[in-house]
Amino acid sequence: MIGLISATAAGTAARDRLAAAWPDRTRVYEGPVGEAVRAAFAECEQLVCFLATGAVVRLIAPLLGEKTSDPGVVCVDEGGRFAVSLVGGHGGGANGLAREVGALLGAEPVVTTATDAVGLPGLDTLGLPYEGALAAVSRALLDGESVALEAEVPWPLPPLPTAADGAYSIRVTDRAVEPGEREVLLRPPSLVAGVGASKGAPVEEVLELVEGALRDAGLCALSLAELATVDAKAGEPGIVEAARRLGVPVVTYPADELARVEVPNPSDAPLAAVGTPSVAEAAALVRGGELLVPKRKSAASPAMATCAVVRRPGRGRLAVVGLGPGARDLVTPRARDELRRASVLVGLDQYVDQIRDLLRPGTRVLESGLGAEEERARTAVAEARKGHAVALIGSGDAGVYAMASPALAEASDDIDVVGVPGVTAALAAGAILGAPLGHDHVSISLSDLHTPWEVIERRVMAAAESDLVVTFYNPRSRGRDWQLPKALSILAGHRAPGTPVGVVRNASRPDESSRVTTLAALDPATVDMMTVVTVGNTATRDIAGRMVTPRGYRWQEEPK
Ligand code: SAH
Repeated sequence: MIGLISATAAGTAARDRLAAAWPDRTRVYEGPVGEAVRAAFAECEQLVCFLATGAVVRLIAPLLGEKTSDPGVVCVDEGGRFAVSLVGGHGGGANGLAREVGALLGAEPVVTTATDAVGLPGLDTLGLPYEGALAAVSRALLDGESVALEAEVPWPLPPLPTAADGAYSIRVTDRAVEPGEREVLLRPPSLVAGVGASKGAPVEEVLELVEGALRDAGLCALSLAELATVDAKAGEPGIVEAARRLGVPVVTYPADELARVEVPNPSDAPLAAVGTPSVAEAAALVRGGELLVPKRKSAASPAMATCAVVRRPGRGRLAVVGLGPGARDLVTPRARDELRRASVLVGLDQYVDQIRDLLRPGTRVLESGLGAEEERARTAVAEARKGHAVALIGSGDAGVYAMASPALAEASDDIDVVGVPGVTAALAAGAILGAPLGHDHVSISLSDLHTPWEVIERRVMAAAESDLVVTFYNPRSRGRDWQLPKALSILAGHRAPGTPVGVVRNASRPDESSRVTTLAALDPATVDMMTVVTVGNTATRDIAGRMVTPRGYRWQEEPK
């Protein structure tokens, strides 16, 4: 039984929500708080106190005995923001209770015992159907007991602290097996059923055929990812309804694409009807994989449906993640999630250092130094191709003068790619300078390591002539010192000497500095590789020390 104790109106309202949600598990203790806590502590296995932690600590301190026998105690604050596991985290189940209460009340569970604080992913949050002893295996993971991972189908899982063998196990499989007593089966969407159907084929016939094929081959329907067929059958009611009942989408392919797939059992009938010698086998095999069930016909006479089942290779996942300009609070929540979702992290060593504490234990980190861009890109893609969940990180936005292009140039369509945008240096600097990017603007990298200077110069010229606000990335390094003065002089050919120029060094990092100067007054020697330089257009003004580029709408210029 869970004893519930509250003192204030807000606490009582939250208490009542809990009591209403779990009528059989909870008992409300009314009356003076001290007496209520003492009674509940003696009578219940767990307590939820809608009281300050300090108050609860004072009340239960004299009552505490052994951690094996004491009840687990959770405190929920007055605002209902936190559910704190106070004592009995493991033995008393307070950690689990804090999570449950948190989920119910929308409060953040606060768990401070060591194994829980490491932030393991919940097995039920992976987006895969599961069967078996989820609670027991999750608890074993949390308690640091040895848990074996057996992946019959490679799947991009987040890092899990698993061992080669263990008392508990997690098995990633699409086969129709029963979970062991201390086992969780994760069901990856690895199976595709190709289906063909004559016009008007009954849904029962299609459904029985697909389910029978899976059953006979010892496969689990929870791993079925889609029903695949030819475009012409996209609206065939028997297929559409069978997919709905199986809870999977219908995916269709053009007949000429299917006609090119090599299959073991082609025939003339579909060739005449829809223009491909195979529908079921070809649609199942068109994206590759292993044919587990060759074409079979339904049992009805005449048979109106065909089916074939393929296991697709596990698709790895590559997340290309921008970390923002430096400050922790400019790392987006989505970037954080992707960092924790990955079991392999690839990046420049200094960027890895920036976020190492956000990674889950067990994440494999592949870091390398400056200059190894191509190698990093290749490594990230190769790891994803092996079926892993990979995060490739870059500062700012990972697609801006960064890793996304070399990585995606390497990648083929056999991996899933997810991009997470980040705050790029031009935007971070713009926010510091004021509003320099209020009208059309461009970014130009002055690094001529990979781009011939003639190309860079032509672009600077074009920006000058078209009066674009320009942000220079990679503006100046020890070995490259003449490019910035040259670029500024090109702009000065089209803009007044007093045009505002913003210089921002280490935007959002601890040693951030910035200033607004002018085209004529800028001293290039004050600029280095940690800096971006933003040059205003002919309308940009220095207003109260801030750089402001008018939006240039006509209504701003014309008198009302
Ligand atoms: N992907 C990064 C850019 C990489 S190119 C992004 O989107 O921001 C590297 C250049 O970016 C540096 O030479 C510098 O010009 C600029 N830069 C990156 N981070 C910066 C920061 N915090 N402050 C100022 N400039 C920065």
